[in-house]
Amino acid sequence: MSEPILKVEKLNRYFGALHAAKDVSFEVPYGQVRAVIGPNGAGKSTLMDLICNRTTPSSGKVIFRGEDITGLPPYNIVRRGMCKCFQITQIFQNLTVYENVQIARINMNKKVFSFLRVGDTYLKDEIIHFLSLVGIQDKIKETAGFLSYGDQRRLDIAIALAMEPNLLILDEPAAGVAREEAYKLMDLVRKLGVDQNMTMMFIEHDMDIVFHYADIISVMSNGALLATGTPDEIKKDKFVQEAYLGGGKSE
Ligand code: ADP
Ligand code: MG
Repeated sequence: MSEPILKVEKLNRYFGALHAAKDVSFEVPYGQVRAVIGPNGAGKSTLMDLICNRTTPSSGKVIFRGEDITGLPPYNIVRRGMCKCFQITQIFQNLTVYENVQIARINMNKKVFSFLRVGDTYLKDEIIHFLSLVGIQDKIKETAGFLSYGDQRRLDIAIALAMEPNLLILDEPAAGVAREEAYKLMDLVRKLGVDQNMTMMFIEHDMDIVFHYADIISVMSNGALLATGTPDEIKKDKFVQEAYLGGGKSE
């Protein structure tokens, strides 16, 4: 009925001789939680980077909210409403939690004045709003680098939320955190998705998390999209069974 939020058409990417994305085509409807799974080196991160043009496609198209965004600068793609979490690498470790979200908001609003002159209170209500969405509003004065790993993840998500995305892309959001914290993070992300009206795509290795949180799962191997389906359909997929669910080789 309605157009999808994201449509990827025959995306290809070569790294020298390596064909890291092979004619990848798929669509994601508005509001869906989509997981992308596949063994290490399958091309999952490359695919996400191609979608937000952190990596330039060798060929193919990315259509976002009805517009061709292929080749647009990443900041422009962010302003159009697509945001990728960066596994903490986008956090300024030496700045406070508050300042990290403040910078994101200033970038988002295209405000071009000195950050130092902005002072402490600029955008305060908004910043606290985004930090409370992820539950770290009581840590605004802490230096980001001293937060626990789980809270750094939360800050990373708050920075992404400050960009007010329609589509949020998460590359292994639960990697490196204990299982209980991983579920807390995923619960949070899913709730935010519903509350903020966001579509979500996430890459994840933990199949329990994938089957629990994804509406639809796409499976990649060797740069190609092998299958897309509901958790029940994907559980029955022969490749997935061999790679993940007891049969065959491990990663
Ligand atoms: P995944 O996220 O599924 O583990 P990646 O997308 O990171 O896989 O990598 C897919 C393949 O592309 C791997 O063989 C990887 O070594 C290669 N690759 C990824 N990024 C680069 C790059 N910048 N330069 C060269 N090869 C790369
Ligand atoms: Mg990866």
